[in-house]
Amino acid sequence: MSVSVLLVEDERLVADMVRLNLEHAGFTVQHVEDGESALIHADGKDLLVLDVMLPGIDGVEVARRLRGRGVTTPILMLTARGEVPARVAGLEAGADDYLTKPFAMPELVARVRALTRRAAAPVAGAPASVVPAVPPKPGRLLSVARWSVNLDTREAARPGFPGFELTETEASLLELLVTHPGEVLSRADILEMAWGMDRSPTERTVDNYVMRLRKLFEDDVNNPVHFRTLRGVGYRYEP
Ligand code: CA
Repeated sequence: MSVSVLLVEDERLVADMVRLNLEHAGFTVQHVEDGESALIHADGKDLLVLDVMLPGIDGVEVARRLRGRGVTTPILMLTARGEVPARVAGLEAGADDYLTKPFAMPELVARVRALTRRAAAPVAGAPASVVPAVPPKPGRLLSVARWSVNLDTREAARPGFPGFELTETEASLLELLVTHPGEVLSRADILEMAWGMDRSPTERTVDNYVMRLRKLFEDDVNNPVHFRTLRGVGYRYEP
């Protein structure tokens, strides 16, 4: 069955290019031009490509409202260059990844593929499927829980499980935590080391990302054994 994408973009030219490329890559695309329509048509889709600057309700608010009503569909946000606050707000509102305009179409298609593949992967702890493990490609490898993560391709592999791809931010946070085993890192440390200087997310963003890593790697998200919280202090990774 074809993977369905809801494209929310008011700029005709961008929308046409995105639609053309996604359809060419095998996705089914529905296109709407404003936030109100996005909220109506989001249900049942496998992924949202959501522009931030929209007439009426903007993309950040659309993401916030969808997450507020329990919609977990992956969201790839499109932001204009220099819209750093919007990008951060988007991630905090529940977007999974973002692309800055102008972007290359192959990059968009790759991100869409990664996000929809990951959404289809079983939750950690689910019975092992019969899918054979793909041996990891050569690269910098991290061992995380029972997964092997290639930091160059950002792919995670585990025998008997379908692999998935991490976003850039997930991968840098993971690398930071896993290469400091047993060490307590404050949210401020983490922001400084994993996010780089050109972004200004809040400490709440760190919490959101640690939660995502737990969902991806912990057997029981509610009782994490690897990504531990030290209340009021920060986080510690236990191998
Ligand atoms: Ca726009």
